[in-house]
Amino acid sequence: MTIRKLLIANRGEIAVRIIRAAQSLGISTVQVHSEADRDMLAVQMADEAVCVGPAPAAQSYLSIPAILQAARDTGADAIHPGYGFLSENAGFARAVVDAGLIFVGPDANTIDRMGDKAAARATAIAAGVPVVPGSKGRVEDAAQALTAAEEVGFPVLIKAAAGGGGRGIRIAHNAGELARLAPQARSEAAAAFGDGGLYIEKLITNPRHIEVQVLGDGTDAVHCYERECSLQRRRQKVWEEAGAFGLSTETREALCKSAADLARSVGYRGAGTVEYLYDDQSGDFYFIEMNTRIQVEHPVTEMVTGVDLVAEMIRVAGGAPLSITQDEITVTGHAIEVRINAEDPLRQFMPFPGKLTSMRVPEGTGIRFDHFLYEGYQIPPFYDSLLGKLIVHAPTRDQAIDLMAEALGSLELGGLRTTTPLHKALAADPDLRAGRIHTQWLEPWLEQGNLTAAAEEA
Ligand code: ADP
Repeated sequence: MTIRKLLIANRGEIAVRIIRAAQSLGISTVQVHSEADRDMLAVQMADEAVCVGPAPAAQSYLSIPAILQAARDTGADAIHPGYGFLSENAGFARAVVDAGLIFVGPDANTIDRMGDKAAARATAIAAGVPVVPGSKGRVEDAAQALTAAEEVGFPVLIKAAAGGGGRGIRIAHNAGELARLAPQARSEAAAAFGDGGLYIEKLITNPRHIEVQVLGDGTDAVHCYERECSLQRRRQKVWEEAGAFGLSTETREALCKSAADLARSVGYRGAGTVEYLYDDQSGDFYFIEMNTRIQVEHPVTEMVTGVDLVAEMIRVAGGAPLSITQDEITVTGHAIEVRINAEDPLRQFMPFPGKLTSMRVPEGTGIRFDHFLYEGYQIPPFYDSLLGKLIVHAPTRDQAIDLMAEALGSLELGGLRTTTPLHKALAADPDLRAGRIHTQWLEPWLEQGNLTAAAEEA
């Protein structure tokens, strides 16, 4: 069944991105929005717009009945969930299909299977994908946790099977700590996710975060190579690159192939991301989880491969086979994305919603700015602070960093405080340029006052 009218169950820059992809495919669009988002750019761009509830997301963007009603009222035949909100909610995917509509993403069972991280580990093992050494599945009691921890060796991480956003994670350095912290992790997970299930993983020291983009049509799956997302603050990605630097050809091929194998093994449909930790010292990589949706950082992959990931996920949702084969996907040059958030990085990243009084956006070869802004736009305070993503593409990583510095210099968002100064300082950092970074690098760098020093010099 081909999609004629697509409803976008999201907001902000990703809603704009999805509308553009739909337009390129000749599909008409319905944008849902909350009462606080009437002035949103995506509402102006879509063919139709429907208000689905008040400002709080729980009553609008997360309201399954309201969104399904909007689809029925407008005659939409498919729903794109974007990222966040309902994108990884298997109940929503099921409800969409039960309503006779197409969910732009994998089927509900795949979301369920990958959403339980202990089950996802087991699926990865079955597909031959290396996982972080740890328990085979969930650990049901203290004795099982201890056996698993002793097998892989301390220190270990206690993780929540239903986890996300780093919640429920604890480090245990010895048996005593494990016995003390496991019950805490269990109750935190039960409170946060309604599921106290735990599993054990070996703690990898200062790993890098490398992830692989996959695309599937339910029968076949391909990968679109890898991204480096090691610059994180509070487990949130801040600066992303395609590809990862310093990997040997063999490691890159093995890593990317393992992700496509995993996607194929579950009959994956749509765009997904397989996340790994990479140990610089040993060259080993380990699966940690799969995200069954489009990701914020997808544009860096689009820049280096030329594949329109959002259009492709809409096409396969409509029943088309993948339009590209693995051999046709190649990487040219290097791309970097930075997240421009309405936050003040010099004041503990305090949110800074407000009115955008003036706007100047960098342009030129190899520069892309995915955003939902216009002059005079009042940024509502109710949602994620992401304003846009500045993406650059150049022949080499060094040139991409230079181009990023230049592009940041010509980005002006008047009336707001944004994370732009952080990215300027990062672009000038010698360790970042040399690739001496890992997931534990950025927070100490901030604590040591590097940003303040750079801002004072500027
Ligand atoms: P969540 O789903 O809660 O975000 P993840 O399993 O994706 O949790 O891990 C989030 C981040 O935590 C990773 O990007 C990495 O920085 C760190 N991390 C996770 N597992 C390990 C591990 N076994 N060793 C070291 N760091 C880890």
